[in-house]
Amino acid sequence: MKQLRQWGLGLLLVALTAVGLIALQPRLAIQAQETASTATLDSAGLTLEELGDGIYGLIASVDFPPVDPGMAICNGGIVIGSDGVLVVDPFQSEALGDLLFETVATLTDLPVKYVVNTHYHFDHTGGNPAAASRQLPILGRGPIREFMLTRNGESDSNITPPEVVIDGAWDLWLGERQVQIREFEGHSGGTDAIVYVPDAKVLITGDLLFNQRIPYVADGNIRTWQATLAELIVDYSDALVLPGHGPVTDVAGLESFKTYLADLVALAEDWESAGTSEEEAVATELPAKYSDFLFQALFPSNLEAAYNQITLGQDDAASIQHYLATQPESVKAL
Ligand SMILES: [Zn+2]
Repeated sequence: MKQLRQWGLGLLLVALTAVGLIALQPRLAIQAQETASTATLDSAGLTLEELGDGIYGLIASVDFPPVDPGMAICNGGIVIGSDGVLVVDPFQSEALGDLLFETVATLTDLPVKYVVNTHYHFDHTGGNPAAASRQLPILGRGPIREFMLTRNGESDSNITPPEVVIDGAWDLWLGERQVQIREFEGHSGGTDAIVYVPDAKVLITGDLLFNQRIPYVADGNIRTWQATLAELIVDYSDALVLPGHGPVTDVAGLESFKTYLADLVALAEDWESAGTSEEEAVATELPAKYSDFLFQALFPSNLEAAYNQITLGQDDAASIQHYLATQPESVKAL
């Protein structure tokens, strides 16, 4: 919460500075309105990467928690069709959402038609106000509205949930280009969706894939997530993959993350047979093979989720209640 307050203070200072400029220098104010946000790809720690013809990823490289609240934590996606554009996950703030739309404008003159939230977590949906201010439809699935309003609402007074809630398999068309949205389970309590562009074989997974990052699992179901990864590996074996966090990969990244979850489950099964206490379990050191992963601050919460879900065999509801009651605010964002 403290961190979020700091972010809020930062945004307030930016706003006050903008008001000062408007009062003193009308010409500068006009420029500020034209550019909409002061964030740049550089200041946001984002790299624009072409994933296929007219398909781009904005790849975040900062560790978590970010050293600078203006830096993007997750990846965003841009899919340009023959008559319009679809964007995925407008980051954690309106300024970063604005940056996503400004980046689209540097790539094409075509209008954005759809905004997709791959799940409800704050780092992927906090930028939704930038879509709403452009009168763009935001799509999400399952209980995404409820989860955003109740869970994200504690730390964000400007919640903008999707106004189109999809159910089942959806195909959207950007002129000639088909974009498939499909539901999978495991990371965020029934709000996970993937975006796939069949003509280019590009898969945007949201947080069903953390690549070279310690994942955020406390809000998910580890065993369900393992089954989803096995399915994604079969269904998208030849796709280029944009993960929710971490660098662009392919089926190898899905395999590697599936191994990570299997390692976590193996640890939890060992704790069960050894009668390990939760206190001891959560103190387990990060295995050396994952020492170059970012987001290591999340590892204790991985251990705790594994202990609850695997060692104790708690169901989702008990596990999520435990998570909501015990996790620090800064970790709830992912
Ligand atoms: Zn995330």
